[in-house]
Amino acid sequence: MIKKIAILGSTGSIGTASLNIFQKDLKKFKIVLLSANSNYSLIKKQIKIYKPTYFVINDKAVCEKIKKKCQKSKVKIYNKFSDINLKKIKFDITISAIVGIAGFEPTLKFINHSKKILLANKETIICGWHIIKNLSKSNKSEIVPIDSEHFSINQLTKNFKDKDIEKIFITASGGPFLNKSLKSFKNIKPNDAAKHPKWKMGKKISIDSSNLMNKVLELIEAYRLFPFDPKKYEIIIHPQSLIHAIVFFKNGQTRFLYHETDMRIPIANAIYENDFDAGKLIKTKKNILRNFENLKFKKVDKKRFPIVTLLEKFYNKKSGPIILNACNEVLVGKFIDGKISFKSIYIYLRAVLRHKDYKKYAIKSSPDIKDIYKIDKWARRRTLEIIEKKNI
Ligand code: NAD
Ligand code: MG
Repeated sequence: MIKKIAILGSTGSIGTASLNIFQKDLKKFKIVLLSANSNYSLIKKQIKIYKPTYFVINDKAVCEKIKKKCQKSKVKIYNKFSDINLKKIKFDITISAIVGIAGFEPTLKFINHSKKILLANKETIICGWHIIKNLSKSNKSEIVPIDSEHFSINQLTKNFKDKDIEKIFITASGGPFLNKSLKSFKNIKPNDAAKHPKWKMGKKISIDSSNLMNKVLELIEAYRLFPFDPKKYEIIIHPQSLIHAIVFFKNGQTRFLYHETDMRIPIANAIYENDFDAGKLIKTKKNILRNFENLKFKKVDKKRFPIVTLLEKFYNKKSGPIILNACNEVLVGKFIDGKISFKSIYIYLRAVLRHKDYKKYAIKSSPDIKDIYKIDKWARRRTLEIIEKKNI
């Protein structure tokens, strides 16, 4: 049976990496639905190559332009997910790879229509994992986190309980500013921050990686996904980015997961349930042992990466991460637009987390969808207000 595939965020870094895997095995997979925001030329190209039955295009103007251009093609084009009637369709695999909270509702919609969801969108996990988990249980759909560190932790800790685990390290490359002089941080431009030394990723996650916000989000993502004591997690700098997580067990053993810095490895392992030949996808290094000689690890310098000090606020399972995420989405956008400096991302984040009403919005247990958007909206407003007043 040919497997039906949907990709939410098909023009992005995870979306294109996933398409590259499916493309090499079109006897087994049919791309049925793609979705993207506004990349006109890539959307046009993907329609031509993959001939999906549906394409959802979030940007209205681009959507209209594509509709006109593709009148003769059979693809059905929609502007909103709510416009498609998915009643009869069950996807075998859905890749959820829209960036930001914008991916939350589409992910929820597709849980009802998918046997398995490969979930890359960490913002969604941070804000609404309890909802995703419950919905997937009631629909008997499987959710597989594919963020490389979480895919690794999942593999390493399967069949273990909190009592078996001493410590879990999540690795961070340290990004482009690991060795930059602290004095020159004031001159950092968006393009400098978006240049990741090891991974090729979308702009937002690359900027989040340059100040270690990505790791802060990933630790909260891990607190949500795996039922271990949050205090057992720690970030460790590992500039080579070849080991993705390290777990120390109480029984004296330590396990880690090593793979090349290519997201197709965790994605393909999730698609094929670990049963595939990676050599068909990427050139794997012949001499891995030589790589081992050069693996380095060091503690995080909190002066360089002060954002990591915010983490302890999020050990509980309450609604604080929704605020952190919304605030960060606004600040990264402002930084890209040249409206705020690199260093002020942390300063403004901290200011919102210290706002007099923060606790009121951050203490909700298991917020429902309406609550999530209410809290998200509050955080976005406060962030803009604080930027405007430079009230820090
Ligand atoms: P990206 O910016 O390269 O791609 C984002 C995709 O989402 C694009 O297809 C874009 O068209 C679509 N999109 C953006 N806004 C949208 C909207 N409002 N509505 C509908 N579609 C929209 O991002 P990416 O690097 O592929 O990351 C995607 C997600 O995966 C993020 O949550 C990121 O944190 C996570 N992730 C990425 C990587 C990586 O290596 N890139 C690794 C782990 C996790
Ligand atoms: Mg990651």
